[in-house]
Amino acid sequence: MKKNYLMTPGPTPVPSEVLLAQARPMIHHRTPEFDNAIRECVEGLKYVFQTEKSDVLLFAASGTGGMESAIVNCFSPGDKVVVCHNGKFGQRMELIAKTYGLDVNVLQYGWQQIVNPADVAAFLQANPNTRGVIITQSETSSGVLNDVQTVGEIVKDYPDCVLIVDSITGIGAVECKTDEWHLDVVMTGSQKGLMLPPGLAAVAVSPKAWRAYERATLPRFYFDWMRYKKNLAQNTTPFTPPVSLVLGLAEALKLIREEGLENTIIRHARLAEATRQGCEALGLELFAPAEGRGNAVTPVCVPDGVDGKKLVSVMKNKYGVTVAGGQDEYAGRIIRIGHLGYFGEFDIITTLAALEMTLKELGFAFEPGTGIRAAEAVFMEG
Ligand SMILES: *Cc1c(COP(=O)(O)O)cnc(C)c1O
Repeated sequence: MKKNYLMTPGPTPVPSEVLLAQARPMIHHRTPEFDNAIRECVEGLKYVFQTEKSDVLLFAASGTGGMESAIVNCFSPGDKVVVCHNGKFGQRMELIAKTYGLDVNVLQYGWQQIVNPADVAAFLQANPNTRGVIITQSETSSGVLNDVQTVGEIVKDYPDCVLIVDSITGIGAVECKTDEWHLDVVMTGSQKGLMLPPGLAAVAVSPKAWRAYERATLPRFYFDWMRYKKNLAQNTTPFTPPVSLVLGLAEALKLIREEGLENTIIRHARLAEATRQGCEALGLELFAPAEGRGNAVTPVCVPDGVDGKKLVSVMKNKYGVTVAGGQDEYAGRIIRIGHLGYFGEFDIITTLAALEMTLKELGFAFEPGTGIRAAEAVFMEG
């Protein structure tokens, strides 16, 4: 028997309280009991999205469904949008927007660069008829954290332009102040910071985004935001919801409230810092630039002479520790250590230990214990 440790940035581990809530016998979704769970979820989601002004809508979908909902509800064919693209998920937003026939402009960066808000400002000045700015807050493919707060300050001065933020690995791990930062559409997915299995997308919709909705003519049915808003006003959903996931979400949100969102974010910052210190102490290079590193995932460059795919497979098969590999051109060149959601200090220590033992086996030279020691030092600082 081998004990397994899921150290990926989605799906993430699920706390036992949440698993148990989902194991309850099925209930019908048109009942006061279920209405109550929906009400708790909406209140809890508003708390984690830090919003009072926005509606938070819930869909049975993976995170990508939430992304697609933003496009079909805010725009009309030919609308000019600008996508900030510095990784795999920014690229996905570009693809969705193109699929729906928008006039898609791209601010293109490398995967190891952060989006420069001044470029967004310059684009909007040159193109005042832009209807949407689309940005990924926490780029899970690269670990880069983009400055959506500054972009929010820029976009807020354009009354007909909405700011769409993919915060799928931002929510619950880093600050994401929907109201204060003027973020119009913000989304997350259940299998990330919310500590649930995959299957739910949550999308916050601001009053400005609702005005965009009124103008938008793209066809929409399943993801039509208004259906969800009207039903949520009665604490219900337009279609059969994933009942077990909703019961689990109510439980997960209780756990976040008990910890307190500020503390949740501080915990993530410490886990990320210990992971970074541990890897650097081993002589490994961090992938994301120092000025823009998030708390959800730490991508680390695979050292020369080590086979990156083998590194991931030995960690998993020999030691039971699953980390993610790189995507696209970084496949085999980086590993991504997730620490998003239900994670504690010893998950990091365990992962660094497995990383050390694997690197040793694959012939990388370093003094065993160095990484763990550096991580412990971060945790003992308190
Ligand atoms: C996980 C993730 C998504 C959504 O992916 P799904 O597989 O559809 O849930 C989107 N953006 C980011 C940044 C992500 O991390």
